[in-house]
Amino acid sequence: MADGLVSMGEFGVVELFQKTAGPVTGANTLGIGDDCAVLSRDDPAEYLLLTTDALVERVHFLRDQISARQLGYKSLAVSLSDIAAMGGIPEAAFLSLGLTRDIKKSWIEAFSDGFLECANEFGAQLMGGDTVASKQDIFINVSVTGKCKSNEPIRRDGAKAGDIIYLGRPTGDSAAGLYLLSHETPGLQERDKGKLLAAHLTPEPQLGLGQLLCRENLASAMIDISDGLLQDLDHVCKASGLGAHLDSEDIPISPQLKSLGALEDYSPLDWALSGGEDYCLLFCVHRDLATSTETMCKKELGIRIHRIGTMLHGQTGIRLLKDGRSMEPGKTGYDHFSKYPTD
Ligand code: ADP
Ligand code: MG
Repeated sequence: MADGLVSMGEFGVVELFQKTAGPVTGANTLGIGDDCAVLSRDDPAEYLLLTTDALVERVHFLRDQISARQLGYKSLAVSLSDIAAMGGIPEAAFLSLGLTRDIKKSWIEAFSDGFLECANEFGAQLMGGDTVASKQDIFINVSVTGKCKSNEPIRRDGAKAGDIIYLGRPTGDSAAGLYLLSHETPGLQERDKGKLLAAHLTPEPQLGLGQLLCRENLASAMIDISDGLLQDLDHVCKASGLGAHLDSEDIPISPQLKSLGALEDYSPLDWALSGGEDYCLLFCVHRDLATSTETMCKKELGIRIHRIGTMLHGQTGIRLLKDGRSMEPGKTGYDHFSKYPTD
């Protein structure tokens, strides 16, 4: 069985279901293949967004490495990040739990507190779900609905050649946080360690940024980074029928990741390019709008966005300029069936 899945890969499985589903019809505007499905409403200026994400014990998390409160927060945050990736405003959340019999009431209460904290922070409301027994591992599935008003949701397939590629914040911190969960790093300052761990355990969906880009019609394409910068940029490239050029000098690295890189035998750039679960936004902007987009993000949200490259004509894949040489990156990110992570 493993062989079949390993050769199909996660994305081979998704393609199979894409064929099963067929083309979207009626009010269903956008189906499998983007961060959210999109349905049109009676009001032509409004779009309904839907997304669902699963977290499985021993694949996505280890019970002794994440508190119940953090897990509650994260399980909603990762779905909210897909709403952010379309430029949407969150509305309802649905929580399905597969729980093992040994779980204590205090664990459920703490999970619920974390979930609620995230829901309150980003304006989602828990509206339903399902609770079942699981024999060995905890299983969590969160679905979220959201809306885009006035402007269409920002899809993965709208990038144009010459567009500037941006990141909403540096990548790699979450992968570094995951590394810190199982490695002693006595030389790293507690504050830096805390920031990297938080990026992994309680990631922040960039909803304000996504909404600004949608409201002001600034981005031609957008995705959130869940599987690694290169892999998720590749999804935008394939969907838009384009290639991309990146310069490693332009890839932002947080000061905390730099500090860790100086202590360990890992290159921060590798984490930034291929580490997953950053849940920041990657988006493309027409070059004439680039400066005003940077200014607006600074003025309205107080954040700096990072230019990392340019979209190219033709399906040429991603070219990375490193140490003055152009190379094709090898391993680009996470595939659920390429290995069994924490078994
Ligand atoms: P994301 O990382 O943004 O959550 P995924 O890579 O998980 O996106 O999924 C990519 C697309 O494939 C999404 O549109 C998702 O809804 C769809 N998808 C994934 N698994 C399935 C499945 N088993 N059946 C139908 N659609 C799926
Ligand atoms: Mg996504």
